[in-house]
Amino acid sequence: MHHPTRLLIYGFAIVILMMITLAVIAFYSTSSGNRDVTQQVSQQLEKINLINELSTIIQSRTRFMQSMLLHDEEFTEAESWPSFNRLAGAYTETRTRLVPLLAPREREIMDAIDRLDRDINDLNRQVSVLFLNGSRDEASKILLQEVLPKTAPLLSHLSELTQAQRMDVQKVLLIATSDTEKNRIQIVIFSIIAVLVSLTVTFVAIWYGRKLSGQLQNMNNYLEQKIYERTESLLDTQKELLEDNSELTRMALTDNLTGLSNRTSMNQILRKEFSRFERHDHRFGIIMLDIDHFKNVNDSYGHDTGDTVLQELASIFENAIRASDFVARWGGEEFLICCTTIEEEDLLPIAETIRKLVATTKFESAGQITASLGCAAIVKGESIGELIKRADVALYEAKNNGRNQSVVSEFTDISLIQDPDENVKTDFHDI
Ligand code: GH3
Ligand code: MG
Ligand code: MG
Repeated sequence: MHHPTRLLIYGFAIVILMMITLAVIAFYSTSSGNRDVTQQVSQQLEKINLINELSTIIQSRTRFMQSMLLHDEEFTEAESWPSFNRLAGAYTETRTRLVPLLAPREREIMDAIDRLDRDINDLNRQVSVLFLNGSRDEASKILLQEVLPKTAPLLSHLSELTQAQRMDVQKVLLIATSDTEKNRIQIVIFSIIAVLVSLTVTFVAIWYGRKLSGQLQNMNNYLEQKIYERTESLLDTQKELLEDNSELTRMALTDNLTGLSNRTSMNQILRKEFSRFERHDHRFGIIMLDIDHFKNVNDSYGHDTGDTVLQELASIFENAIRASDFVARWGGEEFLICCTTIEEEDLLPIAETIRKLVATTKFESAGQITASLGCAAIVKGESIGELIKRADVALYEAKNNGRNQSVVSEFTDISLIQDPDENVKTDFHDI
């Protein structure tokens, strides 16, 4: 995957992780707050219930005392005490449940309630005893003058406690409300941070991605430049090699001294002409030329002069032969001319023209020289080697006949044109 794209994905993954963390924190902080509030409120409600129960018990006890005094006929000891004790027991049980829930200040109020309750209980017992003894007036007096005045503050203490609980509930709700507010602010802050972080991560990813792709681009350009340079230099080298190659080819096919084609080149030409002859019947012929007594030239004027003569002779050939013909230095002071698309009878005029030209040319350093020429035109069934042999035989004949002349090999029978002299140079087997 592309590097900047991977960075972007990492960035988004971080942002999503942050969002999830934020949601979890928000959920837990809110729900734990809610749990605390619910717990505290239900505790307050339980306290309120217990306090109400206490005040109901106390009121019942007072009503019980009142009803005892008011309905004296039916009221007996047997039924009064159990009811009275049941109420006292209910008070103790409710009080035991309430006390652990009370705050220290509330406990002080509870102590005051307990003190009043004990007093009231004592007085109630006195009232009951007096009543059962028949001193109803006395009993009523105590109930009215002492029990009831003490019952009022007791109830007011209880209502004080209830009031305190109400205030506490309000306080808890207030705190809960402010906690919720705080949570909301926290969530907003978290959201802002998350957005800022995600933006930062995105920008960093984009910036870094751009930087990376810039670097990659530069590297790419550099590589392309290098490849271009390398390709150019390779092409140059290739060109040089090709040039060298063609120079080598040219050198391989050219005679150093005269600049004419060499024997190798002539062999190629002969092969081409031979295949043209085989396919299209385009007959060709050759003229083999050998300088007469060239050894004498070397001996009289020196080898260098001999070389110069060979060079001058080469330029004579180039001007003398037809444009469609080829000339090559066949070896030493021997030259071979290939005449394309020619008949046997047309070879002699060409050979004679060349011979006369050589014989009439005044060579700068060596004066007059002559050459002997042997000619042969290809016939069906003949090989190149056999053709060359025939030209060579004709040349041999010209030499034997006194030199400075041209002889055309007249084809008789191919079987007769076998090598008359093993030393005759045909050399075509070299090809
Ligand atoms: P003929 O008429 O029988 O051909 O006599 P010739 O002297 O030409 O023949 P021969 O084969 O006896 O001698 C050929 C001479 O050609 C011998 C050699 O020194 C000379 N020669 C061959 N190649 C070169 C060359 O490149 N430069 C020079 N200067 N002489 C060469
Ligand atoms: Mg020779
Ligand atoms: Mg010679």
